[in-house]
Amino acid sequence: MATLAELPQVSECTVAGCSYNDHSHCHAGAVTISGEGSEARCATFIPLNVKGGLDTVLASVGACQRADCVHNEHLTCTATAVRVGAGADLADCLTYQPR
Ligand code: SF4
Repeated sequence: MATLAELPQVSECTVAGCSYNDHSHCHAGAVTISGEGSEARCATFIPLNVKGGLDTVLASVGACQRADCVHNEHLTCTATAVRVGAGADLADCLTYQPR
């Protein structure tokens, strides 16, 4: 069983309009991935006029509801790192790979 420190980081997020995004990095403490069908949506995406997150933190994937992804074990992501960007939605996990 992985520890918190071993959760995969969001190595890049190109969703510039998200409150947690700064120069293609996500500064939320952790993100949740959800969605249905062919899209794995970042459920933490929020386009507000206020900046969110912690400057010194690079987000990890805290929870992922996409049990059908090859990287998913027990609703936890086991990928080395994930990339988030525009897909079917404004903010999708681009590392999602259906089994
Ligand atoms: S790579 Fe797969 S398991 Fe990891 S966050 Fe993306 S959709 Fe979830």
